[in-house]
Amino acid sequence: MGDQERAEYLARQGIQDRRVLEAIAHLRRAEFVPEQERARAGADTPLSIGQGQTISQPYIVALMTQALRLEGHERVLEIGTGSGYQTAVLAQLCREVFTVELLPDLSRTAQGLLTRLGFQDIAYRVGDGTRGWPEEAPFDAILATAAPEEVPAALVAQLTRGGRMVIPVGPAYGSQELLRIHRGPPGTLPRVEHLLPVRFVPMVETTPL
Ligand code: SAH
Repeated sequence: MGDQERAEYLARQGIQDRRVLEAIAHLRRAEFVPEQERARAGADTPLSIGQGQTISQPYIVALMTQALRLEGHERVLEIGTGSGYQTAVLAQLCREVFTVELLPDLSRTAQGLLTRLGFQDIAYRVGDGTRGWPEEAPFDAILATAAPEEVPAALVAQLTRGGRMVIPVGPAYGSQELLRIHRGPPGTLPRVEHLLPVRFVPMVETTPL
């Protein structure tokens, strides 16, 4: 499947946000996976990107991005840079992406590729994303592509009022739920919506020194 065909396929699967579909049509997913996975890049499945990590299924990338309802002016925090594919989708749809990855090699490879593809408004950080990126907070939207057992409080705290976060939550390799969390006005509790059952790699929590 070519990437234009992929966007048409995702539209048939129910993805309605035209900007999300266009952003996906603009990328060649095969460029984001290692050589030995290229032949499979057309399939709507997750693929290995090395170090036990995966690039998400395109349908899930589209659905999560659509759920953020980006209009173009936002500053967005992403946890789990991985291959950089989701980062590249986000970067086309908002003002600035701040992306955090725990594994230095993956971060470096993604940064090299995204720079070569001409993406400029992306800031990269190597570290534990469960703590967010306090120096750059608050964010209009947060997207996590690894699953913590519980929603990290630091991430909710780094959302703007009116901001939203899309995050898979649940036990490692067990039953996880994709959540959308809206942070409302002061004095109100964040509103949590369950979007669908999912399976993501665990969000590793490191112990502070
Ligand atoms: N969005 C990626 C998916 C990568 S899989 C893509 O499109 O390819 C999830 C990624 O989250 C992995 O690269 C993993 O190393 C990273 N990760 C896991 N725990 C993390 C943490 N605490 N902080 C930052 N990144 C983390």
